[in-house]
Amino acid sequence: MMSIAGFEIVSVQTGTFRLDGGAMFGVVPKVLWAPREDVDAHNRILLATRTLIAVSRDRECVMLVDTGTGTKWADDEADRFEIRHDGSAIAAWLETGFGLAPADVTDIVVTHLHFDHNGGLSEWVGEPGGQTRLCFPQARHWVHRRHWEHVQRPTEKDRASFLSRDYEHLERSGVLRFVEGDAPESPWKGVRWFVSDGHTPGQLLPIFEEGDGGVMFTGDVFPTSSHLRVPWVMAYDNEPLKTIAEKHRILGWCREGRLQLAFPHDHRVGGAVLDFANDRALIAQPADL
Ligand SMILES: [Zn+2]
Repeated sequence: MMSIAGFEIVSVQTGTFRLDGGAMFGVVPKVLWAPREDVDAHNRILLATRTLIAVSRDRECVMLVDTGTGTKWADDEADRFEIRHDGSAIAAWLETGFGLAPADVTDIVVTHLHFDHNGGLSEWVGEPGGQTRLCFPQARHWVHRRHWEHVQRPTEKDRASFLSRDYEHLERSGVLRFVEGDAPESPWKGVRWFVSDGHTPGQLLPIFEEGDGGVMFTGDVFPTSSHLRVPWVMAYDNEPLKTIAEKHRILGWCREGRLQLAFPHDHRVGGAVLDFANDRALIAQPADL
């Protein structure tokens, strides 16, 4: 667990799934990425889903960053991505790490609404395929306005990553809180927003900062530590050149020694302190997350 900016922060693995390895690394040939990855017979690589739990020391803010794939999956869909979601992982960590319950969660940072990041915002009430309800109905759900507008009219390229059952009830539930613009202020002291547009418009990424140190939840700008190589950009990205520019900016902060990274999809490490050799970012040590 990391203590920074008045928060105690932990990266909780809520499950695993698999996506096509070629799609995860864009133009990079398989001979380069395969030795680093757990590849199955369908060319899919093993990925984790991770939630950051960040609890302020005064317990007034109990924050989740992303909620994973969730449990609203028919068997054939789950098989396609080999989805394994532990629906009790967040509750277990809230209890053992902080003595808290899911009902104590005050805020959820919805980095973006691709199913592998926030399917866990809701669950089926009864029969699979039926009505859904929010898993954390008392929490404020923070979404960037640009992303919310994109979700209503996604590009043909990333339309398949949005499942309406994950977000259709969010607006009418009254829990949505919109973040606006390119340099928005966060409601919490010690937390800064980074707004990313390369992967999908208005991806909302929190940076917890104190003095010269900080930790950033990287979302799908750096889905895993393999993506520390700047050109290793996902084919899923709407605007990969923007992702590359965003990666340079973030790595610049890491190079100044100020920032650690917390990855959403790395099944090996929750995060990393970086080192640099010949302009290439390397893991110096796992982050204390
Ligand atoms: Zn995504």
